[in-house]
Amino acid sequence: MSATAGPDRIAIVGGGPVGLTAAWLLARRGVPVAVFEREETVLPDYRASTFHAGTMDLLDGTGIGEALLEMGIKCPTVQFRTWDRGIIAEFDHAALKDDTRHPYRLQCEQYKLCEWLHARLSETPGVALYYNHAVTGLNQDEDGVVLSADGPDGPVTLSARWLIGADGGRSTIRKTLGIGFPGFTFPERILVMGTTLDLRSVLPGLAFVNYVTDPKHYGHILRIPDLWRMSQPLFDGEDADEVLSDEGIETRLRRVIPDIALPDIRVRGIYTVHQRVADAYRKGRAFLAGDAAHLNNPKGGMGMNGGLHDVIDLTARLGRIWHGEAREDELEGYEPLRRREAMDDIHRQTQQNVSNLKEADADARAALFAEWRRKAADPEATRRMLLQSSMIASLRRCGMLPG
Ligand SMILES: Cc1cc2nc3c(=O)[nH]c(=O)nc-3n(C[C@H](O)[C@H](O)[C@H](O)COP(=O)(O)OP(=O)(O)OC[C@H]3O[C@@H](n4cnc5c(N)ncnc54)[C@H](O)[C@@H]3O)c2cc1C
Repeated sequence: MSATAGPDRIAIVGGGPVGLTAAWLLARRGVPVAVFEREETVLPDYRASTFHAGTMDLLDGTGIGEALLEMGIKCPTVQFRTWDRGIIAEFDHAALKDDTRHPYRLQCEQYKLCEWLHARLSETPGVALYYNHAVTGLNQDEDGVVLSADGPDGPVTLSARWLIGADGGRSTIRKTLGIGFPGFTFPERILVMGTTLDLRSVLPGLAFVNYVTDPKHYGHILRIPDLWRMSQPLFDGEDADEVLSDEGIETRLRRVIPDIALPDIRVRGIYTVHQRVADAYRKGRAFLAGDAAHLNNPKGGMGMNGGLHDVIDLTARLGRIWHGEAREDELEGYEPLRRREAMDDIHRQTQQNVSNLKEADADARAALFAEWRRKAADPEATRRMLLQSSMIASLRRCGMLPG
């Protein structure tokens, strides 16, 4: 493919949940889009599974919300637990019944959303999907951008009126634009494993969403449609291959569930976790969204949700401008709105979640448990807490949800 004529489209780099959602939302508004994805197809990426109530409210009527409801599991309750003492406190999203149409966390594997979007986009007029195309750079002037990519038949270029860089934490677009990505990397990596064993058989009373506090072995336990998933941190000097071996996983599980035999492990992976926000979300006609713009600790399940909020806002602005319903200066509102939420809200909440889960001081732990129990027993305190964790408060601050 040589340069395609005319910047008569919006280019999207990255076929993850954020890039494909951007493509879908633009295509629904009749905006031609071209998506570049370096992989040949959608990979079975099990990272994200939680779709928060605020996100589900925004996705109603887009087709995505309805698909997630069909593919996912509604999880109304969230537990805080310890390995040995069981439940400390349980919070029920029913407290949000007057705040959302979706008073639960919807659990669905992120790859299933990507597969659904990929299938629909493949048959949508005005959508060009360039899989197996790794974007290598871009040039831009006041009229548009020109992307360069390596495809199966060699280098290609494509022109577009605007570009959305949704190409993940190591974003080529962010680096090409020379945008810094300050923040820090957590010292501990995390092991995430998925099993077909019903973990309620070994941890009675488990909800579908659980956070386990422990100074060393803190983590989460989640039910997703395919599997049960657990996470635990790695310790200094632990070898990844050993940790990921059957023996390593069995040893680790027995530290917290003494009688367990190695269950059927279907997914295992180690993740390095960052807390970073891009210095800018826009340069000229190129925008950043999703992990390309912000990374955070997954405790709380906010990374993908925040990325979806980015493109719900950005594509609405671009759609209006594309159809002559708004002026280009409307785009100036995107960065201040969305970057502030990543910096102030998502980072604050996810960092607090991790600190709480690994609290080592006995008095501080006792105070934390008492605080959780107090909130769980008080419907208004539960509601206030869940408004934050479900990201409804963030979306209200942004004016993206009423209230
Ligand atoms: C263990 C774990 C659990 C998590 N759980 C949750 C959760 O429950 N809820 C939540 O909200 N978030 C969660 N997250 C975070 C979530 O996974 C990410 O925020 C989300 O995947 C970001 O989506 P994205 O589309 O921005 O980026 P990605 O999913 O990283 O997609 C980027 C895409 O860009 C492609 N790409 C990269 N470079 C190029 C290039 N040069 N050219 C073309 N294509 C390129 C990649 O192949 C990839 O397909 C979790 C993260 C981890 C590690």
